Amino acid sequence: MLIVEPRVVKLTTRTEIDVRRNLPHARLRRIGAWVFLDHFGPTAQVEGMKVASHPHTGLQTVTWPFAGRMDHRDSIGSSQILEPGEVNLMTAGLGIAHSEVSLPNSESLHAAQLWIALPSEVRNMQPAFEHHGDLPSKQIGQTAMTVFLGEHLGTKSPATVYSPLVGAELRVPAGARLELPIDADWEHGILVVSGEVTIDRQPVAANELAYFEAGVSAVSIESQTQALLLLVGGKKFEEELFLWWNFVARSHAEVVEMREKWNAQDARFGKVSDNLGGWIPAPELPGVKLKAR
Ligand code: MN
Repeated sequence: MLIVEPRVVKLTTRTEIDVRRNLPHARLRRIGAWVFLDHFGPTAQVEGMKVASHPHTGLQTVTWPFAGRMDHRDSIGSSQILEPGEVNLMTAGLGIAHSEVSLPNSESLHAAQLWIALPSEVRNMQPAFEHHGDLPSKQIGQTAMTVFLGEHLGTKSPATVYSPLVGAELRVPAGARLELPIDADWEHGILVVSGEVTIDRQPVAANELAYFEAGVSAVSIESQTQALLLLVGGKKFEEELFLWWNFVARSHAEVVEMREKWNAQDARFGKVSDNLGGWIPAPELPGVKLKAR
């Protein structure tokens, strides 16, 4: 078991909300096709998320709120309010733009945002958006599991994915002992969102991610307090990826092309209609060629 500590980054330049980023990490690039794992809040700055229109390619974005409400708009005409217990899944394919704003009428803002790399066969597909408000749950002992993406222990999310994977929330009561079966053919990570737990007898603090290579068939979790965990896992994703800014590409040249097209507001990405206005230009590329990761 590897413990992956988060890096702290800012959610936007306009707020002081910290984002904890567990993936990608110097010691762990990805888990299955999960290439990006961000977690922010809880914060009382419920209107602290204001991310103007920006592009994505080659990936799916997954937004899973624990508290608060968000408004998603994108360039294929989607307009969707997102609440806890619901998932937004945006498939960028060959290119999409979106904006995200948190809404005022809640007491707290707390969410995870994840990216999934699309396999080569589908990465240039037309963009798509799904919202699912009715997600399957399963009780494992005293723990309630909700599968928001993929499949775990026969419980399957209706959301569309393109590689074998799981994304699930686990609500563990205080004083629980849980033997969580996992698929030994896959690699997995358990993010401690909140609470005090030990995983395989080792304390794992809030915001830390415990990583398991393939070959592990069960994980033992003990909770000292009520705890909220995220399980992500999947079949090892073998393709080489060039991750830069909001793009998942297959070469340096492709990143250069996407960046130029976005900054020229190429029709490929479409236009977002929202109340925020404006769009976020891509930053300068580093002076050296990007490396595959
Ligand atoms: Mn985005």
